[in-house]
Amino acid sequence: MLKFLLRPLVPRFIAGETVEGALAYAKGLRSRKILPIFDVLGEHAQKKAEIVRVMGQYLELLEKMNQSNVKGAIAVKLTALGLDIDPLLCYRAVLRVVQRADDLEVVVWLDMEDSPYTQRTISTYNKLHQQHSNVGVCIQADLKRSKKDVLALLLDSPRIRLVKGVYAESTTIAFASHREITQHYKELLKLCLQRNANVAVASHDPEILAYALQLNPEKTKIEFQLLKGVRDDEKKMLVEKGYRVYEYVPFGKEWEKYIMRRIGEGWRNMWWRISEIRVR
Ligand SMILES: Cc1cc2nc3c(=O)[nH]c(=O)nc-3n(C[C@H](O)[C@H](O)[C@H](O)COP(=O)(O)OP(=O)(O)OC[C@H]3O[C@@H](n4cnc5c(N)ncnc54)[C@H](O)[C@@H]3O)c2cc1C
Repeated sequence: MLKFLLRPLVPRFIAGETVEGALAYAKGLRSRKILPIFDVLGEHAQKKAEIVRVMGQYLELLEKMNQSNVKGAIAVKLTALGLDIDPLLCYRAVLRVVQRADDLEVVVWLDMEDSPYTQRTISTYNKLHQQHSNVGVCIQADLKRSKKDVLALLLDSPRIRLVKGVYAESTTIAFASHREITQHYKELLKLCLQRNANVAVASHDPEILAYALQLNPEKTKIEFQLLKGVRDDEKKMLVEKGYRVYEYVPFGKEWEKYIMRRIGEGWRNMWWRISEIRVR
């Protein structure tokens, strides 16, 4: 029933259910000078067979990107590779994907899931990053711990994607207001750029994009990442200014949770706007 209700939103946010569909979509991005970040949808694998299947899909994706000369990056959720059920197998699976991606000069972004996974995701990134420079990690500005995490990551030439954070977290560990999250985001971004890190600004918020541009970053050190189906106007503006722009391109059959998160952001935005009017 839920799937039936959400289905009309699929074409906007998802690039089909197959690798071929995602690659075909990405070829269309090329004419807009936008690069894809492919994400195989799915999370919280509960069986070893699922881990093997997801790893296989990433390896197939990498081969097909190479064969069809599609440049871009990939994004991985560690729970899709078994972090909940078998951390060692999860590590072996993500390592295999990262190794093959490294051979093919493809960057692998570790998406950041909700707070029970924060430390394990950062630790996995650190371990992979020791041997492979093609790995990046996502850091969430809503989490109060993130400044400490960024400072630690900055010690070793990191590749960091900054986001606001999409998961509902307790106010003991996370900022709740739009203002605080945006301020924290700006602080983290400034820190990354001051320390010459490779940073990806993953936001559609015009205030954050304007702030990033105002810092006048070196074009080789910054990239912008936006989601498929959101703010194409901002993507175009950034391309015209000569920045590297990536679009997050999810595909696969398990799209419900992803679409629910996009709906959640829509509601959150509406609520933030209402509360800002109320305090004015
Ligand atoms: C490339 C990329 C990767 C991400 N990876 C992660 C991750 O690994 N972990 C994680 O926790 N979060 C991730 N996120 C989500 C992120 O945390 C935010 O929830 C999301 O980007 C919305 O915040 P915003 O900065 O765009 O600003 P907002 O203030 O939420 O939005 C700014 C404006 O963008 C538009 N907009 C934003 N979201 C939507 C939407 N869903 N539908 C329609 N319009 C919208 C609206 O016009 C809105 O006013 C990722 C986001 C991007 C872009």
